Amino acid sequence: MDNRDADVLIIGGGPTGLALATELTMRGKRVCVVERNERTGVQPRAKTTNVRTMAHMRRWGLVPEVRRRSPLPQGFPRRVLFQHTLFANPIVSFDDSFCASPQRRDEFPEHAEFIPQYVIEGILAEKVASEPLATVMFGWELVSFAEESEGVVARVRGRDGAERELRAPYIIGADGGRSSVRRLLGIEMRGKSNLTTFATLILRIPGLIERNGLPRGLFHFIVRPDAASIIGPLDQGDVWYFSRVAQAEVPTEDILNVARRAIGCEVEIEVLARDNWVVHSLLADGYRKGRAFLAGDACHLHSPFGGHGMNLGIGDAVDLAWKLAAALGGWAGEGLLDSYAVERAQVHKAVIDSATRNVGALSENFADPILGETGPEADAARTAAAAEIRKLKTPEFHSLGLVLGYRYTNSPAIAPPDREGPPLEVSRYVPDATPGHLAPHFWIDETISIYDLFGIGFTLIVGEGQRDVSALVEDVEATGIPLKVLRLDEALIDRHFEAPLVLVRPDQHVAWRGNAIPESRRLIEIMRGERRSQSEPGKSE
Ligand SMILES: Cc1cc2nc3c(=O)[nH]c(=O)nc-3n(C[C@H](O)[C@H](O)[C@H](O)COP(=O)(O)OP(=O)(O)OC[C@H]3O[C@@H](n4cnc5c(N)ncnc54)[C@H](O)[C@@H]3O)c2cc1C
Repeated sequence: MDNRDADVLIIGGGPTGLALATELTMRGKRVCVVERNERTGVQPRAKTTNVRTMAHMRRWGLVPEVRRRSPLPQGFPRRVLFQHTLFANPIVSFDDSFCASPQRRDEFPEHAEFIPQYVIEGILAEKVASEPLATVMFGWELVSFAEESEGVVARVRGRDGAERELRAPYIIGADGGRSSVRRLLGIEMRGKSNLTTFATLILRIPGLIERNGLPRGLFHFIVRPDAASIIGPLDQGDVWYFSRVAQAEVPTEDILNVARRAIGCEVEIEVLARDNWVVHSLLADGYRKGRAFLAGDACHLHSPFGGHGMNLGIGDAVDLAWKLAAALGGWAGEGLLDSYAVERAQVHKAVIDSATRNVGALSENFADPILGETGPEADAARTAAAAEIRKLKTPEFHSLGLVLGYRYTNSPAIAPPDREGPPLEVSRYVPDATPGHLAPHFWIDETISIYDLFGIGFTLIVGEGQRDVSALVEDVEATGIPLKVLRLDEALIDRHFEAPLVLVRPDQHVAWRGNAIPESRRLIEIMRGERRSQSEPGKSE
């Protein structure tokens, strides 16, 4: 296909599409992003960029920009508060919510960031725009596409009605919940739709953040019965968001009155925008047909409580991009592209379960007038409410187990697990190097993370001066698979990976580990996504 416009057509320039473009261009592939809107970032939506996405931002060299553009100053407490009204003493405080406190931790290289989605999209869009291998077509939408023998041909339409054709070996629908690519592929979403309807008001409230007596936090869950809601700072320039359960027909003025009750004191408020959104719990029937793939909200939709959707889409992009780069580079087995759905669906299901549980316990569920009163009875009610809130809401704000503890099983691009890993628990992360898990993170020194030492392709971690891996490296190189050999102190490798030899994939997941250099053929099969036998945990191949 020499008349191609790109190696990969990406439909949708939201966080998933832009992450795909970033990851693919980094791997030397040409992309064309087709985005219906004239610019990125129209709605505020995501505020939590989690620690997994921040590790990708570190690989992409974008962390300084993300930190610089976060609206929160250094000392701002990264906590979620439950209160009767905005200025009331917190009933419960979830400190270090989402691991967003600016501190160094062993489990990950970058703390999470609180930053509006449109800012993240802007940062990614600038990165993509600076890439000579990327073309971004703002103001163009996908109309249709068809598969040809060596690729796809897509028809796109501009704002002025002009149409043109684009050709590429692959197309990805990163075009959100109402995905045209999904519709054109005839793939259904399964699950529950229209669970709850919310309205978010974007407000300018001058001076509120500096008011004396305001207990500061990322999210304030207000549990006053006539003002049950969530409010919090959104951006620089006194911009706040206010969300509550409300049908689209509820007048903005009515919602604004509730916001005033939730704030509980006189403030000047300007409504900047309104965003109505509906919670679903849906997963696509499939993520691939031939040369077309789905990623991000196009294949999974769930409640935003827990802050996972955008992060999950970025995770999809990372998993899919290196596999497409492998296919384009001629070294992927057919199983590698199929492993995308096998692997990501496992994470999607776990996140959908958790996010659906989170939306089952809203401010309304805890609201009680006594929580705003004084006296021993009210104190006892607050203590009881605090216990209940902690029980139900901890997985929403402390979810490191889900964010880093997810693992890929039964994938043709991962060796069979050599033992059963720790159970997946939403709030508890136990680093583990069983194949399929994320490579355990550790610091090499004050500033260098083990992840910084991984190559852009596969990384074979070997003890310093211990083993001769030259024959294996030669065999791998002959296939065109990018491989870096990383020599580290053997005791260090053993401590973190519980084996002296480890193969890490381009997405930082452990592909294989062992005590002896295996036959080259075995490792190459895994790298190409062609491992056929599906052994049980504990049994070696
Ligand atoms: C209130 C709220 C709060 C949230 N908070 C969080 C959070 O804290 N953390 C988190 O991780 N997630 C959060 N989310 C979820 C997050 O917003 C989504 O998961 C994320 O936007 C999905 O990104 P995407 O790129 O897959 O899809 P989208 O953001 O929907 O982007 C799809 C893009 O495709 C374009 N498009 C659609 N059709 C076409 C077409 N035919 N041709 C060309 N372009 C097309 C659209 O214009 C759009 O720009 C929240 C969501 C809501 C509603």
